[in-house]
Order: sequence, then C-alpha cells, then structure tokens
Amino acid sequence: MQDFWLRASIPIIASATLAGLIWGLFSLIAALIAMVAMLLLLLLRQLWLLFKLEHWLNDAQLETIPEAMGVWEEAFTKLYKMVKKHKRTKQELATELKHIEQATAALPEGVAILNAANRIEWCNPLAELHFGLNAQRDILQDITYLVRQPEFISYLHIAEADAPLVMHPSRHEDMVLSIKLISYGDNKRLLISRDITQLERIEHMRRDFVANVSHELRTPLTVVNGFVENLQDMTDLSHDQVRHALGLVAEQTQRMSTLVSDLLTLSRLENEQSPPTQETITMSDLLDEVYQDGELLSHGRHSLHLDNVGIPKLQGNREELRSAFSNLVSNAVRYTPAGGHIDLRWWTRAGQPVFSVQDNGIGIAASHIPRLTERFYRVELSRSRETGGTGLGLAIVSRIAIRHQAKLEILSTEGKGSQFLLVFPLKSGESSAPASAKVTSKA
Ligand code: ADP
Repeated sequence: MQDFWLRASIPIIASATLAGLIWGLFSLIAALIAMVAMLLLLLLRQLWLLFKLEHWLNDAQLETIPEAMGVWEEAFTKLYKMVKKHKRTKQELATELKHIEQATAALPEGVAILNAANRIEWCNPLAELHFGLNAQRDILQDITYLVRQPEFISYLHIAEADAPLVMHPSRHEDMVLSIKLISYGDNKRLLISRDITQLERIEHMRRDFVANVSHELRTPLTVVNGFVENLQDMTDLSHDQVRHALGLVAEQTQRMSTLVSDLLTLSRLENEQSPPTQETITMSDLLDEVYQDGELLSHGRHSLHLDNVGIPKLQGNREELRSAFSNLVSNAVRYTPAGGHIDLRWWTRAGQPVFSVQDNGIGIAASHIPRLTERFYRVELSRSRETGGTGLGLAIVSRIAIRHQAKLEILSTEGKGSQFLLVFPLKSGESSAPASAKVTSKA
C-alpha cells in the first residue's frame, strides 16, 4: 500500500518541483500555469489509460493487456496474473467437466437432474435414449411434457418412493425400465433409469421353467399316487395284478428319473461358464456307440444306416458329443413310424465336419422349427410323452453345439421327414484327411 502512494505521488512531486523551479527562474504566475498544465497532462494520461483498460476489459486477452508505467503498471500486472489464473482454473474446470461427462456417459444407467419444477437441468446419453430426450433441445423442459405416461407422472409426484417404478417407455414398447428418484441438494432430484429388459426376460423364463417342470412332474406323480392308493385299498388283488400295477408305477418313476436327469444335464451345461474339456475323439468309435444306441432304441422297427466319410478325429468333449448325437438319433427313432429309414452320417461340407441324422418320419411344420430348441417345446405333446420324451433333448443338443462353436441346422417337411445337422467349425478337426468310407446298415 505504501508502495502505491509512493508511486502515485512521484508525478505530482515531479510536477510541483518543476513548478517550483519555474517560480524561481520566472514568476509565480508562470509556475502556476505550468503546474496546472502538468496536472492536466497527468489527468489526461489517467483518462487515456482508463479508456484503454475499459476497452481491454471488453475482451480480456492476455496478449493484448495494455502497457503502462507507475501505479498502472502494477495494476495491469495484477490484472494479467488474475486473468492468467482465471484461464487456468477455467481450463481445469473444463477438463474436469469433460471427465464427469465421459464418466456419466459410460454409466450403465440413465441419469437426469430434475429441479423442483420437474424441469430437466441435465441428462446423460442413456437417459436421452430411455426417455427419447434430446440433451440440447429439452434442457429446462418439464419432463412431464416429454414423458407423458400416467404411471410415470404419478411416480414423479410421490416425494420419496421406496420401490422403483417398472415401466415400458412409450417410444420403446419392447423395453422395460426400472426408474428411481433420489432427492438431493436444494429441491433437486436424480432420475435414474435402468434397462431391465434382459432381467425381466430371464425372470419370465424362470417362471415358465418352474411352471413347466412342476407340470411335467405332476402328471407321473398323479399316476403313481393313484396306483399306490389303489394298491392300499384293494387288498384282494392277485399277484399278477400287483405286478402289472407296479410295472406301470415303475414306468412313471422311470419317466421322472429321465426328466430329472435331462434337467440336471441341461442345468450343468447352462451353468458351465468354462469351455468343455477338449480331447481328441476317434469318430469311428463314437459313431458306432451312437449307432448301437439307436439300434437298441429302435428294437428292429427301423432300418438304420451309418455312413462315416468324415474326418477320423475331432477335437471336443466326447461325453457331451455322444449325448448330442444320441439325442438326435433317439428323436429320429421316436418320430419315425415303424418301417422307416434313419441315416446317420459323418461327413465334410465345405471343409466343415458335419454329423447329420436324416429320417423319413412324421416331419415338422416350418412354423415350429425356430422354437424346437426351447426347453419343453414340443410339436405334439402326446407323441413326445408316449415315446418317453422330456421336451429337453434339442435344448441339450443346442447347448452342446454352442459349447463346441457348432451350428444346429434343422431341415424338415411335415409328413416327409427331417434332417438334423451339427456343423462343426473348421478348426475342430484334428486331421482333414477323410476316413475310409464305412457303411453300416441294417435292412
Ligand atoms: P422330446 O423329448 O419331446 O422329443 P426334443 O427337445 O428332443 O423333445 O424335441 C422337441 C420336439 O421336436 C419334439 O417334441 C418333436 O415334436 C420335435 N422333433 C424332434 N426331433 C424330431 C424328428 N426327428 N422328427 C419329427 N419331430 C421331431
């Protein structure tokens, strides 16, 4: 402060000294005129510098700050430092804001800030997507004008709702959103939206699955219960009658046991995150086993063919592939009337190993084909049940195919027959040399 007064007084002292000198050399009048002229000059300089400052403040750039001496020099230096600091802080804040923007854009949830009047102060890209908003256009718009669903509007009016609101946004009918409001600060609220479409689908599937399993188990259990009650009530049954009843009970318990076993297989395959343990499979041995399974199941009612012209070794999990192949053969046997033909084939198509099973059985209408690999999906429930089907076979095959990066292809014509192909990726073959053709047939 002292420094300021010292600097400020220098031109006045200098003018007064000069005026004193003029007084000594000439006269008092001359000295007074010189003093007034110098003070006027000083005043003009101050005005000029003030004008420059005012002009500079219109667009305060570091490069254009005015230069001056004396008290103004100090003032301009301080201003220069202030502007520089302000610019740095602004830059830091801008970088910080950018980081926050990037972080909120990466959030897996939609976030919007609403003020006390439900006007949108800010929103991230996911909130834009969920509610069909436009961050630039809709800022400070009342959200209830933009999202007009009544359940959403009433939810906004509940001050502190504990449970989130689950709704289908009108612009994305197939999307399910879970919405939550969190109050903070000065009458502000965070509107958080989460896309739970997938979760809802899984929950729906889980409910269906539990209902299906219960239904599947209830039928054989009812039958078994009926027989047990009969056996208890009818004490005078003959040995043969008891044997017959017990045979039927055994049939039902076998059905339940097959169902439980298929369920366990499927659950193991679906829960297994790691890929199956790989081994080199000798295909001729595996195909023989699958063929024998088919023969056993057919009991001489069909003519089965095995044509092995594919690569001799395959990389994969033997147990899983045996289960998939056998399921396809079992289906062919069960859905082909007696006297039908079933061809098992191991071959190569455009360099890819293929296992196919073709039958001339009842076939499948085209509309059913896309749904066949769903759990418990059957074209004809009674036929599946009569032949001991659980409705899980193709779901198991499809899961095993996925675990081997293979593709399940289904070709079928109702009334004429079906062909199921498991097409393996190129790399799964150990050797691309085809085995010598081996055809096993039974007429
Ligand atoms: P299921 O235990 O009922 O056979 P799958 O999952 O193996 O269950 O098959 C689903 C449905 O696909 C069957 O119920 C049947 O309607 C149909 N299906 C499967 N394989 C064949 C086939 N080879 N010929 C005709 N229909 C078939």
